[in-house]
Amino acid sequence: MLVFSGAIRAADVSVGTATARPGQKATGFIQVPAGVDPAVNIAVIVVNGAKPGPTLALVSGSHGTEYASIVALQKLARSADPSELSGALIIVPLVNPASFVQKVPHLNPVDGKNMNRFYPGKLDGTQTERVSWAIGKQVVEKCDYLIDLHGGDLDENLRRYSYWAKTGKEPLDSTSRAMVLAFGLDHIIIQDNTAPARGAVSLSRFAVDMGKPAVIAEAGHAGTANLEDVDVLIHGSDNVMRHLKMLPGKAVPVEHPLWIGRLSVLTSEHDGVFYPVARPEAYVRQGMRIGYVTDYFGNPIWDALAPVSGVIVYIGAVPSMKKGDTVASIGELADAAQIPQR
Ligand SMILES: [Zn+2]
Repeated sequence: MLVFSGAIRAADVSVGTATARPGQKATGFIQVPAGVDPAVNIAVIVVNGAKPGPTLALVSGSHGTEYASIVALQKLARSADPSELSGALIIVPLVNPASFVQKVPHLNPVDGKNMNRFYPGKLDGTQTERVSWAIGKQVVEKCDYLIDLHGGDLDENLRRYSYWAKTGKEPLDSTSRAMVLAFGLDHIIIQDNTAPARGAVSLSRFAVDMGKPAVIAEAGHAGTANLEDVDVLIHGSDNVMRHLKMLPGKAVPVEHPLWIGRLSVLTSEHDGVFYPVARPEAYVRQGMRIGYVTDYFGNPIWDALAPVSGVIVYIGAVPSMKKGDTVASIGELADAAQIPQR
């Protein structure tokens, strides 16, 4: 039956083809029609709590080979219990299925675009832009809070961290700060979102610009889906739900986070074979050698020197290196004025 009056109550939650009544869970797809390139169906799970409350969106897999984040949301969706939830969850574990299926890091191989850079997207754009448009309408507009999960990609060795976006607006900043502390990762990178965005933006920036508090968390590295990384992302998401009073229990926030004020990315000046000599989480001084590149005969041709003093948040994990590729990302410790007061 297609139409039955009165059956859809106000408290039903619908995203794409998934509709969940209060106390129920539903799965479906956000259907993105074909345009200049093929159509794609994005899996979505809606968990509609038995009790009223806010709506939290949980998204991963914009980078389809950041596996720990994708596995984490799949597990979280399976274990989420609507009977103990206040409010609703919109869970999208894999925004970029082509990247996952074809094992292509960083980009959507359908159109060669980074799926975390094109919000709000375009209805008549390429696949990345059409998916971004659909996620904006179906997920971001329908949520009150957002968590975007990432990790080290196929070629990245990463130390777990989260991002907190400073906008200069209250209560947005204090709300998102409390969420990121509740998530529990002890390295937090401060993003300066005080200036207006120019052009297309990331998912979290898009949400924050709509006034919706957002957290980005990263765990996992180099094609792995280790249980400890997966569990950290699930536990952190659950803790944010506790903090938002969507789950019973108390969220224990991280007490002494290391605030990182700025990220500096070092890129390779040569094609060649990369050898790291420093690990993620290492504190390095400006000018310190953190790796080197050889030619294909093994002759060293370039030293990777730390551009700033700080913590290595990720460093190249594989020998493949081409000119312009990221060698490492180094976080400079925030100065006192940058560190938010509780
Ligand atoms: Zn990512």
